[in-house]
Amino acid sequence: MIKLLPFLVIISFFSVPMMVSAEEKNDDMVENRMALYKKSEALTMIPWYYFAAMDQYERNINKETASDDYISITIPKEKWFGFANPSQSVHSGWIAMFSGIGKDGNGDGLADPTDDEDILYTIGKWISKYGKTEQDFKIAIWNYYHRELSVQTITNIAKVYKKFNTIELNETDFPIPLQYNYSYKNTWGDARGFGGRRIHEGTDIFANYGVPVKATTYGVVELKGWNKFGGWRIGIRDIYGRYHYFAHLNGYQKGIEVGDIVKPGDVIGSVGATGYGPPGTSGKFPPHLHYGIYKDTGTTEWSFDPYPYLKKWERQARKTR
Ligand SMILES: [Zn+2]
Repeated sequence: MIKLLPFLVIISFFSVPMMVSAEEKNDDMVENRMALYKKSEALTMIPWYYFAAMDQYERNINKETASDDYISITIPKEKWFGFANPSQSVHSGWIAMFSGIGKDGNGDGLADPTDDEDILYTIGKWISKYGKTEQDFKIAIWNYYHRELSVQTITNIAKVYKKFNTIELNETDFPIPLQYNYSYKNTWGDARGFGGRRIHEGTDIFANYGVPVKATTYGVVELKGWNKFGGWRIGIRDIYGRYHYFAHLNGYQKGIEVGDIVKPGDVIGSVGATGYGPPGTSGKFPPHLHYGIYKDTGTTEWSFDPYPYLKKWERQARKTR
C-alpha cells in the first residue's frame, strides 16, 4: 500500500476536522480496491475480477486478515515462505530458494505477506501457472483451497463482477413485490411436523398462488429442482457467500437455469404450495414462499434467521418504490 499512502495522507489532512461519512469511506474503499485489482491485472494479465472474487471470498470467511489495508486475501505462511524455509525473511530471492510462492509486486525487492500489492501479484502469478482460461482458473483455485464450494463460489463471484463491471453491488430487494397481498412473521427455529425432528430454518411469506418471487441480491443460481420437503425450489449464492433458498414454488421463471446471474428484483419464479411428497405434490399447506439464508464460513454452512434482513429489505423497497 506504500504507493497510495501519500495520497491518503493529503486527503485526511484536508478533511480534518470534518467527519468523513460512511458512504464516502466506502467509495474510497471501492475505488482503492479496484485500483489494486486493475494494477495487478496489468502486471499479470489475470482479469481483475478474479482478484476481486478471491478477495471478496476471503473477506466473507475470514475474521482476521494479515493485511490491515484493502485486501483480505491471507496467504498461509508456509505457502508464502516455503515449507522448509527456516526464516521468514521477506527478501524475494530467499523465498524463491525455498519454493515459497511469495513475490514482490511493488518493486521494492521485498515479498511482504502483509503488503496488498505483493499479495495480489503473488496470487496472479500463482493463477498464471495454470493458464488463462476459466477452466484453468478453476483448477488454480482448486489447488489453492482444495474445496469444491470455494471454487464454485469464487468462480460465481467473478462472473457477477465481470457482468456488472464493478464490485459495488450492494442493492437489495424484497422477494415479494410490495403491491401484492402478503404476510410474514418471525418463525425461525420453530419445531416442525413433517420430516422428523427439524427446526424451521427460514421465514414463511404467505401470498397467493402465482405471486412473483424475486431475487433479493446479486448472485448466481446454484440449485434448481425438486426436493420432498421444499418442493420446487431455487438456491442463489450471493457475493457475500450467503446462500438464499426459495422453496415451495409454483413454478420457475421461464429460462432460468443453474449458473444464471441474477440481480435484486429479477423474477425467478412464483409462490406455490409444492412439497411434502413426490415430485409435483402440491396443496398440502397454504401457498407461501419459504425463504432461508445459509452462510458459508469456508468450512461449513450455517442457517441463520432471514427475518431481520427481510424487514430491512422491505423497508428499503418501500422507500425506492
Ligand atoms: Zn418455511
